[in-house]
Amino acid sequence: MSIITDQQAQKLREAWIGVPYVNETCIGCSACVAISPDVFELNDEGKSEVIELESYEGFDVDDSIAACPVDAISWRE
Ligand code: SF4
Repeated sequence: MSIITDQQAQKLREAWIGVPYVNETCIGCSACVAISPDVFELNDEGKSEVIELESYEGFDVDDSIAACPVDAISWRE
């Protein structure tokens, strides 16, 4: 399993594929990991990171965004 890089996110954006993003306000509560375990994982610092996928459709990312207590997750434009 690998973490998506900025370069990979840029390629997905260019292909008009939505890519979730976790900002620095993540408190590591694991809600997103519980809801979308194929999309999010906690790193060594206990913060959520996005797992590299070809598409993020069908993984309840919007539910994870809604569940995040600090609004740390968004779709990258
Ligand atoms: S739900 Fe929000 S605060 Fe909790 S681990 Fe995910 S990104 Fe971090």
